[in-house]
Amino acid sequence: MSSTDLSAKLFADASSVIPGGVNSPVRAFNSVGGTPRFITSAKGYWLTDADGNRYVDLVCSWGPMILGHAHPAVVEAVQRVVADGLSFGAPTPSESELAREIVDRVAPVERVRLVNSGTEATMSAIRLARGFTGRAKIVKFSGCYHGHSDALLADAGSGVATLGLPSSPGVTGAAAADTIVLPYNNVAAVEEIFDRFGAEIACVITEASPGNMGTVPPLPGFNAELRRITAAHGALLIIDEVMTGFRVSRSGWYGVDPVDADLFTFGKVMSGGLPAAAFGGTAEVMGKLAPLGPVYQAGTLSGNPVAMAAGLATLRAADADAYARLDANADRLAGLIGDALTEAGVAHQIPRAGNMFSVFFGGEPVTDFASAKATETWRFPAFFHTLLDAGVYPPPSAYETWFVSTALDDDAFDRIAAALPGAARAAAEARAE
Ligand SMILES: *Cc1c(COP(=O)(O)O)cnc(C)c1O
Repeated sequence: MSSTDLSAKLFADASSVIPGGVNSPVRAFNSVGGTPRFITSAKGYWLTDADGNRYVDLVCSWGPMILGHAHPAVVEAVQRVVADGLSFGAPTPSESELAREIVDRVAPVERVRLVNSGTEATMSAIRLARGFTGRAKIVKFSGCYHGHSDALLADAGSGVATLGLPSSPGVTGAAAADTIVLPYNNVAAVEEIFDRFGAEIACVITEASPGNMGTVPPLPGFNAELRRITAAHGALLIIDEVMTGFRVSRSGWYGVDPVDADLFTFGKVMSGGLPAAAFGGTAEVMGKLAPLGPVYQAGTLSGNPVAMAAGLATLRAADADAYARLDANADRLAGLIGDALTEAGVAHQIPRAGNMFSVFFGGEPVTDFASAKATETWRFPAFFHTLLDAGVYPPPSAYETWFVSTALDDDAFDRIAAALPGAARAAAEARAE
């Protein structure tokens, strides 16, 4: 391993002006230890850090970069629009083009509102569901992460899972009081809560296929059961496709498991690496949003033309070939990881949701957050750092999903294959504290 001195220095500098040196907690490497790498450029599957080390990127900015970094079509589209001005605070043609692209791909979505982050998308969808139904309570699942808005920061996954925070100080009892948290993949628990509170529940929100407690796909029929139960009680169903949307198929998880939710949320892939996200649904529900209806929602930079250009170029390049390549790359990568761990005698499982997967150590099946937390996560730091030192960049937490891009080629897989046996041995030799 070459030096990480410059990253260490940049991290110290950052920590003197930014809390923890990062603008999103998982970047600090808290759950794996060591020096977070400061990335200075990226191209295709390569990430390059400040010290000049290069890594095969298996995080892809937590999902968005499905075409790899600095894809020529995306870079060119962005360069073309920046010269015409960066933000107008008035409608632009590209907003409807991106909205149309989403409507064309996800059948139940008739209207789309563009926002700036996945957090905003889910927060706004919840407000709309409450405004539409006139009810207060919402149901979410333990381990599902829907961004960091107060009502949804109860028993969430992602960085919250990594840090082991039960929720967060600063979220008041009042803000969380109307949030009911249920175990994931448990239809009986949903039935029971609707039997008790059915008339007070505005909506159920669920990740289309959870990827923020590791990859924990819905059991067959789970999302359809949520649709049935919510409809029976006059509650809305919100399917959060911020991670899965336009990643696992051209229609996201909806293309794999078509359940007609009332509202969907999108982010990550749809904006090609720039800050934009969206929520959408039936014309009836979306019609309650201002300026048509009374539910307020707004954004100074929403529908930003540069983000629209990056998103449109990404989605237009994400054709059937691209999704076939993503699936093949995920098969190949998961296969290599599984083989190396088996060879090293490490019990493991690699749950898949299309081209998303994660690596859990230990033999017990993972179906919810409790079983995810019961895995041998203490093997992960050694596994992670051995890969990183060998020039492969996996997600820096056992509770995160691994993301492939279309850019991975035989050379990338050769590098990964060379790194894996050592990493698998390191996982085998790791000891619980
Ligand atoms: C990433 C993510 C979010 C939050 O999106 P941000 O853009 O980080 O605010 C919400 N829901 C899911 C399922 C996510 O994966």
